Amino acid sequence: MPFGRRRVVGVVVEGRDQTEVPANKLRAAFEVVDTEPTFSPDLLALLTWAAEYYRHPVGEVLTSAMPVLLRSGAPIREEQILWRLTALGREEALAKLPARSIRLRAIADYLSKNEHAPASEILGATESPLSALRNLEERGFVEQFAREQTDEIPPVSVMREGPPLNEAQAAAVERIQKTLGTFASHLLYGVTGSGKTEVYLQVIESVLARGQQVLVLVPEIALTPQLIGRFRGRFDAPLAVLHSGLNDTERLAAWRDAREGTARIVIGTRSAIFTPLLHPGLIIIDEEHDASFKQQDGFRYSARDLALVRAQRLGIPVVLGSATPSLETLARARKQPETLSHLPYRAGSAKPPQVALVDLRKHGVTQGIATPTVMTIQRHLDAGGQVMLFINRRGYAPVLFCPNCGWSAHCRRCDAHLTVHARGRDLICHHCGSQENLPNECPTCFADVKPVGQGTERIEEALQQLFTAPMARIDRDSMRRKGELEETLARVNRGEIRILVGTQMLTKGHDFPKVTLVVVLNADQGLFSTDFRAPERLAQTIVQVAGRAGRADRPGEVLIQTEYPEHPLLTLLLTGGYAAFADGALTEREQSGWPPFARIALLRAEATDQQAPLKFLQDAHDLAVDFPVRGVKLLGPAPAPMERRAGRFRAQLLIRAPSHSPLQKFLGGWLPLLPMLPEARRVRWSIDVDAAELS
Ligand code: ADP
Ligand code: ZN
Ligand code: ZN
Repeated sequence: MPFGRRRVVGVVVEGRDQTEVPANKLRAAFEVVDTEPTFSPDLLALLTWAAEYYRHPVGEVLTSAMPVLLRSGAPIREEQILWRLTALGREEALAKLPARSIRLRAIADYLSKNEHAPASEILGATESPLSALRNLEERGFVEQFAREQTDEIPPVSVMREGPPLNEAQAAAVERIQKTLGTFASHLLYGVTGSGKTEVYLQVIESVLARGQQVLVLVPEIALTPQLIGRFRGRFDAPLAVLHSGLNDTERLAAWRDAREGTARIVIGTRSAIFTPLLHPGLIIIDEEHDASFKQQDGFRYSARDLALVRAQRLGIPVVLGSATPSLETLARARKQPETLSHLPYRAGSAKPPQVALVDLRKHGVTQGIATPTVMTIQRHLDAGGQVMLFINRRGYAPVLFCPNCGWSAHCRRCDAHLTVHARGRDLICHHCGSQENLPNECPTCFADVKPVGQGTERIEEALQQLFTAPMARIDRDSMRRKGELEETLARVNRGEIRILVGTQMLTKGHDFPKVTLVVVLNADQGLFSTDFRAPERLAQTIVQVAGRAGRADRPGEVLIQTEYPEHPLLTLLLTGGYAAFADGALTEREQSGWPPFARIALLRAEATDQQAPLKFLQDAHDLAVDFPVRGVKLLGPAPAPMERRAGRFRAQLLIRAPSHSPLQKFLGGWLPLLPMLPEARRVRWSIDVDAAELS
């Protein structure tokens, strides 16, 4: 379409025969790119619903669901040009072509064995130039033609058998299978290693047998070759994997395969929830508690929540799987016990790990590792086991400090300390990426400065001084190169690496069958956060990390280092596991009126000026008086927990409502007026419906 002086690509969402717009204001389209709709009616309805729900411009919502090539005007289908022998070519080519025309004969030979093929394939296989193909065309031996699209769905043939299911798995499979063809939201609640993936695979088999497709969503860093291998190893069915390594053409091809029903299993991360499916039969969200399912900027949707909406509209079941379900999902499952499947034991012969706390106040600690921890590591190494240490902080040390005057290195653009990196050579801000050279001395008193606290690099250094066993570090800094993570994981699984230290990256999707000891080095970050979701996230991380110990036939052991061994969160986790923690946390949320017993939205504002965001939010707050909706409360405005980030001051206003509909009703009346506030042009603002992070 013409748009001012530009040409833009748009999506038609509605047609009209009549209009009040004067004829001279109407423009004709330059071109209709596709002859078929980009989105099926159900997907279009989901997207417009999401735009309304998340209060985000519908145009941006639609484009975010389109592969990049479509956004820039490429057609959905490129006609595929193929080459084949003509009748004349079949009869005469090989007989009449002179023996010295090696290339021409090779092409004719290739096409006599392969009915048809694209030029690139023919020229590659015969190592010929395009001119050879043209030469044959001039002789009337070969011709090109456009491949017709078939709507036939290739049958899915062989599926390899999995292990016989245990009782809990079989019950879960049956419960889910019974709901195929209708909407149901299942929670598959099973400890790590309890065989959730086996349950998915069995249910997928039934869905494929019904001629339908399955959409599987996984967290961002869990989309590993290991997982894909497991799917490929089980089904001889076309698989579309939507991962970040695809180029634009490959992405469009995968999207089209899903849309045309050719791909029977579609696996992807968050944005794959918008993949079109011709015959949808089931949606699976693995590790449903994972934060990466919520987009944190722009169109701030939750792929998990949209999966429920999509499944409901399609009349198909959705399965949410986790060892540590979100409190939202747990609360829903409690109301519908028939949708809860519990896998309480590890599959096969693996036993649950022994978990113990190490009191950091009582024991000697060297570089963040307590003496009993050192002894336990040694014991496991001596017994031939593998050891994994988890610390939620990359770099060498979180603070650079002057013991003489109390100075510490701060980011110039953020309210945050700079992290010491590269064994003390660089200072990097983890919030804005700013980098500085490490000073040799304190800039105020010229005394020697000291790194304080530990990150993965420093733990690795300490371990190298304590143990001689081969070790590896897994975090974003050490695993930059493509394939490096896979390589390291393979070395771990071959037993070449005995000690593994890393961040969150260790916790997701990877199978470490030989790890017998897991150490959580610092459980205390998060125990005292102001965010009401912090305890939930901490409990999930601890349980997920602990679940990596002793998966095969060796019993596992878990040590959690803490300065607060009597903290109720830790004692509950230790005595009753995640379920006991979740019980307590849900009661607390209910009493204090937080989600899932309420709905929230967060209005954020930021500017280079410190006062403007607060002023804007205060005006927005005052304006809300004109839109009273029962039960809706505004909390704030207040500066964000980290007020300055990347040179901008940030503030927020929280909206809380007893349920979804009053919240939507309030936002519908109030938000459209915010652009008219005088401060609105001086700040950047955004609304986050069902905000996951209060920062
Ligand atoms: P989860 O997805 O819950 O972490 P998996 O499905 O990956 O669990 O299972 C953990 C391990 O146990 C895998 O190696 C899997 O092959 C094996 N396993 C799963 N179910 C069974 C079963 N019924 N019998 C034997 N082994 C099983
Ligand atoms: Zn100093
Ligand atoms: Zn910074």
